Amino acid sequence: MALRFYDTATRSIRDFVPLQPGRCGIYLCGATVQAPPHVGHIRSGINFDVVWRWLAARGYEVTFVRNVTDIDDKIIARAAAEGVPFWQIAMRNERAFARAYDVLGCLPPTYEPRATGHVPEMVSLMRRLIDLGHGYAAAGDVYFDVRSFPAYGALSGQRIDDMLASADSEAAGKRDVRDFAMWKSAKPGEPQWETPWGPGRPGWHVECSAMAEKYLGPAFDIHGGGLDLIFPHHENEIAQSQGAGGAFASYWMHNAWVTTAGEKMSKSLGNSLLVDEVVQRVRPIELRYYLVAAHYRSMIEYSDEALAEAGQGFRRIEGFLHRAAESVGEVGPVRPDARPSAFDDAMDDDIGVPQALAVVHDHVRAGNAALADGDDDRVAAELHAVRAMVDVLGLDPWAPEWTRSAGGSGRTTEVVDALVRVVLDQRQQARARKDYAAADAIRDGLDAIGVRVEDTPTGARWSIDG
Ligand SMILES: [Zn+2]
Repeated sequence: MALRFYDTATRSIRDFVPLQPGRCGIYLCGATVQAPPHVGHIRSGINFDVVWRWLAARGYEVTFVRNVTDIDDKIIARAAAEGVPFWQIAMRNERAFARAYDVLGCLPPTYEPRATGHVPEMVSLMRRLIDLGHGYAAAGDVYFDVRSFPAYGALSGQRIDDMLASADSEAAGKRDVRDFAMWKSAKPGEPQWETPWGPGRPGWHVECSAMAEKYLGPAFDIHGGGLDLIFPHHENEIAQSQGAGGAFASYWMHNAWVTTAGEKMSKSLGNSLLVDEVVQRVRPIELRYYLVAAHYRSMIEYSDEALAEAGQGFRRIEGFLHRAAESVGEVGPVRPDARPSAFDDAMDDDIGVPQALAVVHDHVRAGNAALADGDDDRVAAELHAVRAMVDVLGLDPWAPEWTRSAGGSGRTTEVVDALVRVVLDQRQQARARKDYAAADAIRDGLDAIGVRVEDTPTGARWSIDG
């Protein structure tokens, strides 16, 4: 089966044909860093991390760009409320997003451009649009003339005449209430940059058009983002970038939301669903599994129960992998050629993770049966198959993103593992000489630092609480 995606622009599943053989450029609209991320904010980063990993597994050399919108009305408002410069708010929240992407195992983007670092590129883009008759300056603002671009509305399936006024409709000097601001003149005390049209700051849409062109060129393969960005943000990006003469994105992919009570998750829920908070209650790899397990185009209705259930699902996979690894000895590197074709077919079909995970769980069941039968060859085969599959979902428990401890490294994990083994060996020796007091003291000592010991027919196993 060929790799194919649902393309929002054509409302159809299309075979993926890259612009250049073997390469793929992806632009994902990243965070507007006005607040730290909650679980809903981080879903798109995780969904597109899986898209990237799958393209890489299929042999593509991927350039992945995820921007940071570090200037915006809400950032400015928050900075004013706190009496600090806008960049202080932006950097604090950019760090929180970076921490969240990192703790949830997202690969670092090839490029992660900040909007405020690309004002010259935006000025150049607006100058071209003005020269081509798609933009105009009025009273220090610069607008895009939507009537000059006949395809305006095509992505979101709207006719211009049915559209409402754009958000900045009160602005003076607009030719049409649907025209959108690419550049906003500075109000007193606001951050500003000099331009040929006067001092001001960028609108959100022009940032992405300018940064996508800089890092991926005027034509690239996939543009991604959350469903809520289709209109007006992506519609406006298309108008600007194609208005300036580029082909822009070949495919448009949009992930669905995390909802609570059927509504898009919002900050009004308080802090309990901030990523920083949730990963105190749930292991990050289990939170990732929860967000990855649903199809990227399906809504996830958040509940603690569903998150806990996802954790159990992941632990079934992890438990098999650990038991299998103990049974066959050294696990070694991931073996991509061990991936079952049914898994590949599911992933090729618009990143069908639910079907792909069903294949994973089938192999976990087969692997557990092989363990029960003591069939080492089958155990090894299922171990490698399962591991190769979860690897492309970013869920390989032995991957460096999960084995390095906070502030530590893979080496720290190795050392901790070896230390606990030494202690457990001493406990075993104490039991062998029937010194149960000493054996229990070792177990209690481990228990006190959160290391749980479980005796199994094949020896003691341990895990860390939490
Ligand atoms: Zn964008």
